[in-house]
Amino acid sequence: QKRMNRGQISFFSESLRSELERKRLLSEELLTALINNCFSLVYQPIIDSKTHDIYAIEALIRWQLKGENIPPDEFIPIAEQYGLISKIGFWVLETACQQALTFQKLTPDLSVSINVSVMQLKEIEFASKVKSILADLNFPAHKLHLEVTESVFANDKHTFLYVVKSLQELGVRISIDDFGTGYSSLSSMLDVGVDIVKVDKSFVQDEDERGLSIVNAVVQMASSLNFNVIAEGVETPLQCKKLTQLGVTHLQGYYFSRPLTSSALIEYLNNKKAS
Ligand code: C2E
Ligand code: CA
Ligand code: CA
Ligand code: CA
Repeated sequence: QKRMNRGQISFFSESLRSELERKRLLSEELLTALINNCFSLVYQPIIDSKTHDIYAIEALIRWQLKGENIPPDEFIPIAEQYGLISKIGFWVLETACQQALTFQKLTPDLSVSINVSVMQLKEIEFASKVKSILADLNFPAHKLHLEVTESVFANDKHTFLYVVKSLQELGVRISIDDFGTGYSSLSSMLDVGVDIVKVDKSFVQDEDERGLSIVNAVVQMASSLNFNVIAEGVETPLQCKKLTQLGVTHLQGYYFSRPLTSSALIEYLNNKKAS
């Protein structure tokens, strides 16, 4: 009995140690990757549900380390923990806006949507840095959407509201990502006056229709509060049909396109133009 317990404890601490070890190693590699420009971006189309035209693209970061694809769900939290998220975030912003200028030559109305960590919004200088990046690139602010999760409302609301207000004054659009999965406060959303709500894929893909009633509630809210609704994770024609019938304005998911490299997106936009 005693032996088994000791065995279990040492097994547990062993795996915990290797997890911490992996995190520490990845944090060092992240710093190297930043210096050596080892990240890349892929872009997933967001589609107008009525016309099926492309409305925007979401930039998603990719990182290959020694041939292995490390998913952002793994390394973004590490970047946050080790104080690297701000630098990575500005790299994403600058690169995505720069590449979007090229895409806009093919599709002038295209907006680019970028994921922003809650930690970035706690930086009081964030909005003024965004402003100077947009000015340097001559990028139109209203074609930049910043996706933040509901967790921004959970703490440090004051800095967040200040930063978001400053961004909106620039003309940047604010999008609430993964809506419905986290802490959501309607009154905080009213304070901010969000421009776009992205309904999480767990509702979109819900088989027993409960998810769709949540989508429906969001659509009702959207018409009085005046924001766009994007359904994420649309994979089937049936989902596409139901969501459109409910009044969802925009759709995103594998059904329309997987995230594309910049050259594949250029091809996609050219094909759309031709058709
Ligand atoms: P997210 O912002 O919710 O992004 C949506 C994720 O769902 C992406 O995974 C996308 O590839 C995937 N997806 C898109 N369509 C479908 C679909 O039809 N079905 C399914 N099952 N999945 C779909 P990805 O690229 O692995 O990104 C994961 C998360 O990592 C993102 O979730 C976001 O929170 C974070 N992330 C990605 N890029 C960045 C970035 O540049 N900065 C920050 N701070 N976070 C990022
Ligand atoms: Ca997102
Ligand atoms: Ca999302
Ligand atoms: Ca997410």
